[in-house]
Amino acid sequence: MDFDKIALEPIRLDEAFFHKLPKVDLHVHLDGSLRLETILDLAIKDKIPLGIETIDDLKAILKPGYRHKSLDDYLKGFDITLKVMQTDEALYRTAYELAQDAAMENIEYMEVRYSPILHTRKKLSLAAILESVLAGLRDANKDFGIESGVIVSGIRNISPAISMRLAELSVAFKNRGVVGFDLAGSEYNFPAKDHLKAFNLILSNNVNVTIHAGEAYGPESIHQALHYCGAHRVGHGTRLREDGDLLNYVNDHRIPLEICLSSNVQTGAVADLEEHPFRFYHDLGLRVTLNTDNRTITDTTMTREYLLAYENFDLLPLDILDLVMGGVKSAFIPYEFKRDSIRRTKDKVKKMLVEEAVKQGVTP
Ligand SMILES: [Zn+2]
Repeated sequence: MDFDKIALEPIRLDEAFFHKLPKVDLHVHLDGSLRLETILDLAIKDKIPLGIETIDDLKAILKPGYRHKSLDDYLKGFDITLKVMQTDEALYRTAYELAQDAAMENIEYMEVRYSPILHTRKKLSLAAILESVLAGLRDANKDFGIESGVIVSGIRNISPAISMRLAELSVAFKNRGVVGFDLAGSEYNFPAKDHLKAFNLILSNNVNVTIHAGEAYGPESIHQALHYCGAHRVGHGTRLREDGDLLNYVNDHRIPLEICLSSNVQTGAVADLEEHPFRFYHDLGLRVTLNTDNRTITDTTMTREYLLAYENFDLLPLDILDLVMGGVKSAFIPYEFKRDSIRRTKDKVKKMLVEEAVKQGVTP
């Protein structure tokens, strides 16, 4: 059967289907996505006093999946993960394991982001911190076939001079694993344009840019990300709906939004999923992508994020196809590779959805 015949027919999809679906994750923080056992193991091995002995103790202080009062409160969990991510071995291992976990749920391409400056407590060089993560991802690619790239994050609430060093690092590693530059951290009171010098260097070297914006602050923050800092994608953009004119601009220029449903609820960016602008954006035709943000801190997977979207927003086969393709099209990969990947993924997803419709006896 032709996909077009079932594109708008409601079909029942379950966790097993979304697990099998080929997926990409464009917004996932390394330091928010460690296995709980690994945090505990590294703390013991490296003698880091977290004051805990079991996984349950760890959960009690890390609060995975917890609904926080604010983004700043949500970010506190990273104080714990960062403590155990200060050696070459720890960085290699956490990157490798993240890629393995992603591959196990059929994520075919992933862009991992983190800020090397937060891993310098034992005097590792920024280059070494990057090399270790790249090595972990490279080995995971050999073992599990998952493709990936690194996005280096500047931090809003750390000095612009540090962002400049991270921008220089990103330029040096362009075409050697780094696929983009980001700005993360506390959005309120820390405008992106303070880091303008770093973005000038990044853009003049043709490095891709994505910026966390419109998550904890209003659309002015998205405006700055796009028009001052040259962002090619927007992290979250939850509050873009408050500015219709900017929203149309984002839509007209096909600027992708990296939506992270569970995380948006947990940081208080939206009160609950019912309040989330996901459906509104999607219906307007914006390029929406689904992502995990933090697999551990948010306690989620890509499979779960798809399932959440499907269950809460009554998605039809065409919506599922659009979402997967939105991710593939928005990836920071060269167009010559992307073109093939678009064709291959589209065929695969259509085939899976048609098979499911046939199995359920859906007749157009
Ligand atoms: Zn994020």
